Amino acid sequence: MTKILEINPDNLYFYENDIKYAAEIIKSGGLVAFPTETVYGLGGDATNPKAAEAIFAAKGRPSDNPLIIHVANPRDAEAYAHTGELYYKLAERFMPGPLTVIMNARESVPLETRGGLSTVAVRCPSNQVARMLIEESGVPIAAPSANISGSPSPTSAKHVIDDLYGKIDVIIDGGDSAFGVESTIVKIEDDSTLTLLRPGSITVDELLCIADVKIADAVTDKLPEGAVALSPGMKYRHYAPKATLVLLDGDYQDIVAYIKQEGLDNTAIITYSDDYDDFCGEFSDSDVYVLGARDNSREQAHHLFSVLRKVDKHNYTKIYAPLPDKSGVGLALYNRMIRAAAHQVIDLRQGRDG
Ligand code: AMP
Ligand code: MG
Repeated sequence: MTKILEINPDNLYFYENDIKYAAEIIKSGGLVAFPTETVYGLGGDATNPKAAEAIFAAKGRPSDNPLIIHVANPRDAEAYAHTGELYYKLAERFMPGPLTVIMNARESVPLETRGGLSTVAVRCPSNQVARMLIEESGVPIAAPSANISGSPSPTSAKHVIDDLYGKIDVIIDGGDSAFGVESTIVKIEDDSTLTLLRPGSITVDELLCIADVKIADAVTDKLPEGAVALSPGMKYRHYAPKATLVLLDGDYQDIVAYIKQEGLDNTAIITYSDDYDDFCGEFSDSDVYVLGARDNSREQAHHLFSVLRKVDKHNYTKIYAPLPDKSGVGLALYNRMIRAAAHQVIDLRQGRDG
C-alpha cells in the first residue's frame, strides 16, 4: 500500500509530523515521492545502494542512468562531491533552485546511485517541502522524476499516483510543480567552463553571466549510433506519450494545410493559446490542446507534461505540435519535445523561405 500525505506548503509547520513520518521511511531505505519546484521526485537515501536499486526497479529505469542527489543546503555537497570555486559561484547565484551540478564524486556516494560513473549530480531544491524532507532525513535524497521511465514527467501528485501507486511507500501531495520541466544540468569542466547537459528553466544566458558554456550535442541533436552520451539519460527515448508525436516547423497556414492533407484520423493537435480559436475553426475543438502563449515559453514549459498526459488519456494515435523556438527557456521545451517525438520533425518552411 502507498500512503498519500497531503501537505499545504503555505502552512508547512502544521505538517511536521507527516514530514517526519516520510523522513523515517527514507532513513529506513524506503521510497517517498515528493514535490519539487521542477517536477515531482522519487526519493530514496542516496547513501544506501539498496534504496538506489529500489528506485530503478520502481521506475523501470536502466541502472546505468545515474540519479541526482538532493541536498538541503549548497554546502552539504562538500560531503559527496569535490566542489570548487565555480560550484560556489553557481550556488550563490542559483541555489536553492532548479540547477543540477555535476562534479567528481566522493566515495560516500555509492556507485549504484551514480550509475557506475566517477561523477555525481548534486542539486539543492528550493521547494520548502523538499528541503524539509531532506533536512529531517539527515541524508542526501537521490531522486529522479517520479514517473515510469520514458513517460512524461509528473508535475502533480495525481501524475505520480497514475504511474507509481502501489509501487512505493509514500506520495507527498504538495500541489503542482512551479516550473514543470526538470532542472538545468551543467557539468563543471574547469574553473571557468561549464557544459550544458540538459536545458531547464535556468537559461544559457543566465549561466553565461557566471562562466563559459558549451552546449552538449545531445541537447538539440540526435546522438549518432554508438556515440557515448555525456549524460546517460540523453540516449533514452524520453518524456514520451503513447501516441506518435510529430513536430511541425512552420507558420500557422502551413501547419493547418499540412494537417488537413494528412487527415485527422484519431489525431490530437497541440498549439499556442494565440492560435487556439483559429485552430478550433479548422478542426474539432475537442482535439485541440493548448500549451500556452506563443511568446511565453515559461508558461509552455509549465504545461508541457500535463498536456502530454492529458492527450494520452484519449488514446489518440498521432499528436501534432509546433516545434519550439530554441531561445531562453524555449531550449528546454525544444529538448523535451524532440525526445518525446523521437526526433520526428517535419520542416514546412522549406520552399517557402527558399
Ligand atoms: P532525472 O533524474 O529523471 O531528472 O534525470 C537525471 C538526469 O541527470 C539523467 O539524464 C541522468 O543521465 C543525468 N545525470 C545524473 N547524474 C549524472 C552524472 N554523474 N553525469 C552525467 N549525467 C548525469
Ligand atoms: Mg526523468
